[in-house]
Formats: sequence, C-alpha cells, structure tokens
Amino acid sequence: MKEVFFEVKSVAQCREILASFPCVAGVEQIGLEQALNRVVALDVIADEDLPASFRSSMDGYAVRAKDVFGASEGNPVYLQLAGKLAVNEDPQLSIRPGECAQILTGGSLPSGADTVLMWEHTRVIADDEIEVFKSVSPGDNLMLLGEDCRKGQVVLGKGSRIRPQELGVLSALGHTQVAVYSRPQVAILSTGDELVSAHDTPGPGQIRDVNSTTLAAWCAWIGAEPVLWGIVPDKTADLRSALSQAVDQADCVLLSGGSSVGTRDLSVEVISSLPQGRIMAHGVAISPGKPTILGAQDQIPIIGLPGQVTSAQVVMYVLGLPFLAHLRGEANAFDRTRQVKTWAKAARNISSEQGREDYVRVRLVQDDQDMLLAEPVFAKSGLLRSLLRADGLLVIPAQSEGVRAGQLCEVVLLLA
Ligand code: AMP
Ligand code: MG
Repeated sequence: MKEVFFEVKSVAQCREILASFPCVAGVEQIGLEQALNRVVALDVIADEDLPASFRSSMDGYAVRAKDVFGASEGNPVYLQLAGKLAVNEDPQLSIRPGECAQILTGGSLPSGADTVLMWEHTRVIADDEIEVFKSVSPGDNLMLLGEDCRKGQVVLGKGSRIRPQELGVLSALGHTQVAVYSRPQVAILSTGDELVSAHDTPGPGQIRDVNSTTLAAWCAWIGAEPVLWGIVPDKTADLRSALSQAVDQADCVLLSGGSSVGTRDLSVEVISSLPQGRIMAHGVAISPGKPTILGAQDQIPIIGLPGQVTSAQVVMYVLGLPFLAHLRGEANAFDRTRQVKTWAKAARNISSEQGREDYVRVRLVQDDQDMLLAEPVFAKSGLLRSLLRADGLLVIPAQSEGVRAGQLCEVVLLLA
C-alpha cells in the first residue's frame, strides 16, 4: 500500500488553483421572478436617473430654506399655503417667497422650493397659513434627482450575486429581464463497493450512500445544478467510464471516496489516465479532509472528496462552495470577506498539528458576560450528527499548534 500523498497543498494554494479555472460560459436572459441568487453576466447600466425628480423623504411642507432661516419656537416664521400636493402629482405650482406647499413622502418637489420642512415643526393656523418653528437647510429631507444612480452608470457589475436588494434596483429601473450566467452543472459520483442507494436496504458490509445526497444539496444551496451520477464500484474500468462521461457532460465533477492512498483508492490513478487528465493536488493540509484531490480533465475540474461523510462536507464548505461560486461567475468568490465569520472564545484547549489548517466543529454558546464561547463538538469524521450540533467551524491556522481555552478565535459560521 502506498503510504504518502504525493502532492500535498495548503488550503491557500488550493484556493489559487481553483480560482484559475474559468467560470461557466453560458449566459441566459431571465425575468426578475427567476433571478434571485443568480449571478449578473453583463454589467447592468441605468438608462435613467434614479430618482427621476427631487422627491420628499418626509411628510411636511415644500419651502424655500431662505424663508425659514432662523425660525424657532420663540421666533416663528409664517408662510402662505400655496397648495396641497398629491403624492403622485407632477407639481405645476411654483413656490414664491413667503409660500409653501403641503407635500407627502415620495412626492415631487415643486419648483421654487429647495427643501422640505417636517410636519412636526409646523402648526396650521389658518386654511392658508402655517407657523414654522424650525429652520432647514437647502436639500434637507429630500432625495435628490439622480442621487441613487445616474443615467449611464453601472448599477450592478458583472459577477454580482442577485439578492433581494439587487432585485429592488432592477425593479426601480424597469429592468425586468437580466442577463445571468448559466448554472454550472455539477456531476456527483459516489465511489465505493460498500455503497447502496439511500432507497435500498444495506446488506451485511454495506452502507447507504450519504455523500451523493449531501454534496448535491450543498451544490444546490450555492446555486449550482447537481446531476447525480450514482454509485460507482471500486473498479478502474467502471470509474474510468463513469468519469469520462461525466467530464464530457458537466462543468465540474465531484468524486466522493477513493481519494486516499489505499489499494482501493483509485481516483488519482483514474483521473490521471484520462486523455488530458492531471492532478494538481493530492492531499490538502486541512483537517478534517486531508484525502482531497484537485484534478482536471482539460478545462473541467474534478474534485476528489474524502468518503468520510463529515470530512466531505467540511471540505465542500471550505473549498467546494467558494469554488462553485467562482464557477457560476461570482466575483471575488474566494475572498475571505465572503465567509461569514464571528469571533468566539475557545471553551477549552484544542491542539492542532503545525502545517495543517484545522476546522473544528463548534457549538456557540453565550457566557455570563455575553461573550460567545466556542465549544468543540468532538466526533469521528465518519459520524454524521456532529454537523447537526455545530454552529460553525473554528479555524486553527496552519502555523499554529492549537488554541488555549479563552483564546479569541475565528469561527466560520455554517449557514445552511
Ligand atoms: P473512502 O474515502 O472511499 O476510503 O471512504 C472512507 C469511509 O467513508 C469509508 O468508511 C466509506 O465506507 C465511507 N464512505 C465513502 N463514501 C461514502 C458515501 N458516499 N456515503 C457514506 N459513506 C461513505
Ligand atoms: Mg471507498
């Protein structure tokens, strides 16, 4: 039995290798209703100013700032009411010195006025006259014409993920169609002679396939399209045939199991045997998840994940998800700022091997000073439920030999 991984890479090196793959080429034009969580494929340019006019951001009176300068409780100013504007009115009246017009939030500012006085700072004293107790500066309580965006400006850059807030901007501009990248098709193959489908009853020595289900779900969660390729036995010819078909049809292949250095671990050999197959990493300095492979057939990435059910998911979370985000066109998918993290105090000493980045499953609890405490959920990587109890993964950097109880640590939150 071979005992060594022949191409161990650090997590940082893996990110670099993965970032060098091009993103999917396909672009689709879709309606806003379908666009949530898709990725913008062409810069979206505003074809109008937003707002299209000066609009009030308060209920009150449109006035000339000069007219109410110095107004106070002790020294009120009196203004003539020139009219009451409806919220959807294109105001025809013009505010002359000493005049005001009632205006509602969102209403367009009439000409002559340069600011809006809040309702609360006025009192009606006659049908056509108000008393003002406060001064305002020009531009106060107004959304300025073009303040949100200018005609011709890029409002959503290529590579932006479309969240509810991006959909809001598209709606305001009347962009009811948007060009997005096609979802990457991710083929998922589970290898192992011992595996049966989750629908079947395992015989002696058999177990149900978990990784097809979890990996497909993580793919869908990040916005890729999982394609289940099923279970492949630990036979070179079978694996080669399944993998050849998968790289022909998918944008990326996830291969679970057989990624280590045992006699039945065929992934490296089979990937290398493809016509343009290559291995960029065999072994990643990460725990759990060392038996991970980064390979490719031509431009199609093949990621070999450990069969161990928890290791596979941790590697998927730390490297696989940013990679799929990158493949689906998201800009800066590998930026550390994209990971949702919190700081927490380690609840106890946790040791780690130097040279290996550790992702320790932790549960977060509040201590009596309202600080977050990270309690390790120690469990073997073949056991599934530690990930159900964990709120996040406490990161022990490669150069560190562990953390001490009470030490402030970074915890990557498990969001799904
Ligand atoms: P391997 O990486 O193939 O050496 O597998 C490591 C361990 O994970 C073995 O105990 C396998 O039975 C188990 N395993 C491999 N693939 C799966 C899978 N798809 N679902 C559940 N367990 C698996
Ligand atoms: Mg196996």
